[in-house]
Amino acid sequence: MKRKTGQDRSITQNWRPATQAVRGGTARSEWGETSEALFLTSGYAYDCAGDAAARFAGEQVGMTYSRLQNPTVQMLEERIALLEGAEACRTMASGMAAMTAVLLCQLEQGDHLVAGRAAFGSCRWLTDTLLPKFGIGVTIVDARDPQAFEDAIRPETKVFFFETPANPTMDVVDLKAVCGIAREHGIVSVVDNAFATPVLQRPLEFGADVTAYSATKLMDGQGRVLAGAVCGTEEFINTTLLAFTRNTGPTLSAFNAWVVLKGLETLDLRSRRQSENALAVGRFLEGRVPRILHPGLPSHPQHNLAMSQMDACGSIFAFEVEGRAQAHGLLDALELIDISNNIGDSRSLMTHPASTTHAGVDEAKRLEMGISEGMLRINVGLEDPRDVIDDLDRALKVVGL
Ligand SMILES: *Cc1c(COP(=O)(O)O)cnc(C)c1O
Repeated sequence: MKRKTGQDRSITQNWRPATQAVRGGTARSEWGETSEALFLTSGYAYDCAGDAAARFAGEQVGMTYSRLQNPTVQMLEERIALLEGAEACRTMASGMAAMTAVLLCQLEQGDHLVAGRAAFGSCRWLTDTLLPKFGIGVTIVDARDPQAFEDAIRPETKVFFFETPANPTMDVVDLKAVCGIAREHGIVSVVDNAFATPVLQRPLEFGADVTAYSATKLMDGQGRVLAGAVCGTEEFINTTLLAFTRNTGPTLSAFNAWVVLKGLETLDLRSRRQSENALAVGRFLEGRVPRILHPGLPSHPQHNLAMSQMDACGSIFAFEVEGRAQAHGLLDALELIDISNNIGDSRSLMTHPASTTHAGVDEAKRLEMGISEGMLRINVGLEDPRDVIDDLDRALKVVGL
């Protein structure tokens, strides 16, 4: 594998994010293919036994086994790291594989973690069920309040873990304040940045140590494959994280990596257009529904904070109708928007979190997280927003709104 002659890193690393999304990390084989090659291979052959030994000893550059390295996967990892402005990135088989690995690789019995209350349902399972099972203490805080993080710190606190904007309540976390508190106390801040992607929000620039992604969402962006990623310093990725993932094997398949590479080529375009479309749909719903939680609208209590740390508002927001029956009625009346719990897709999708993504969280905890029975979450896609609005307008009339 070689790069184009003269394409040295001192030049390529200065490319802007939209350029990185198309070209970052590309390594061409001897055939000079323009599109990234898909290396469907589990193993690698060596010219001689000495080479095999040298490769295993880390004395020779090259790959040994696809649980550890793969050329297609490596291109994706370099591309995401360049987009993120991170020293290094490792991809995983799914967003949850990334979240699990990033927490378990750095926490052990007796340690303590502080996590945001509003979170993806499975992330709450990690913090509420898995980590305590291994003797890791967890404090859940209202992440909208930076002071709550500071107040929760114990001598054994090792990690802050939160998402912003958070799923599905659209709570916004003050990245600079919370990551600053973490730095002061020698705590590692891990930000789940799935809702925004590095195109819309770069937590490392606000002092975060590590970002973790479900690349299933906006990065693939077309609802095709599951993937995850973790970005951070060389030291964190290659020492702390790699020791865990090499041996536990949450590896991303080369095929899925290739699909995400194709997705990243249009990430900048899609994220910005979907943000514009989500704003148009949000403006339509404002005043028409009892409550809307949209970081791009001035009515969101943290609108100014959201816009000070995001380039655009993203494709996802939440709103409320009167209870579960009306929420289900609205979903059932849709003709264009799909009833689907995925997000970041180029199609508009809508779900009722209390009966789907957060059904596994008991009702009291759901209410504490801010998820009501009438809450709906929408991902606005790349369709003409006027058609999405027409669909909602018609469906809202059906349920009497
Ligand atoms: C979807 C999602 C995850 C989990 O990712 P998968 O790819 O589905 O495993 C984690 N965090 C957030 C914020 C998500 O939206």
